[in-house]
Amino acid sequence: IPSDNSEETTCSCETSSTTAPGYYRVVMLGSEGVGKSALATQFMTSEYIGAFDICSGDLDDEMIVSVQLDGEESTDILDNLNVDAYVVVHSINDRDTYESSVDTIHRLRNDIGSDRVIIMVANKVDLVRKRVVTSEEAKKVAERYDCKFTETSAALNHRIDELLVGIIRQIRLKLNPVFD
Ligand code: GDP
Repeated sequence: IPSDNSEETTCSCETSSTTAPGYYRVVMLGSEGVGKSALATQFMTSEYIGAFDICSGDLDDEMIVSVQLDGEESTDILDNLNVDAYVVVHSINDRDTYESSVDTIHRLRNDIGSDRVIIMVANKVDLVRKRVVTSEEAKKVAERYDCKFTETSAALNHRIDELLVGIIRQIRLKLNPVFD
């Protein structure tokens, strides 16, 4: 994954800073260490990336993933009209990361309104014995802010394809509500 030092990200899977037609721009937010880079790496190696190209009927249909490493620098990104979806990640073994995600989602909804996709991701579900954030409480927050919620393990490549499919599906539903 090439690293691009654009102003709003410290790590990016694509060097473009604008959204070209046929591209979805997905920004990953969350505290340091929750697994954003690991998730982005798994996305890029997923066979579903190829499947999207075929299913969409659009040869240029690709996903750009920007990884925001420091949540404190997210102000620019909240205003970014080119963003199609925000993926807000916490890790289930760290309550501070969850609280930070809740705060980010709250601010995102206030700033961007209801028409943008936000997906809440609870990562590191492989760390079963270290879990301190329940699925139920995270789900409630997701429902409250009209977000999809999913649990993943980037380490085990668990539910990564489902997340990827979910992101694309949610974006397409927002862009075209009759899309199925
Ligand atoms: P970022 O700062 O959010 O980009 O986090 P990284 O992707 O760099 O991951 C931080 C650390 O958590 C690294 O040591 C990863 O190997 C580890 N990590 C990431 N995802 C998982 C996961 O699903 N399970 C476990 N156990 N560790 C993970």
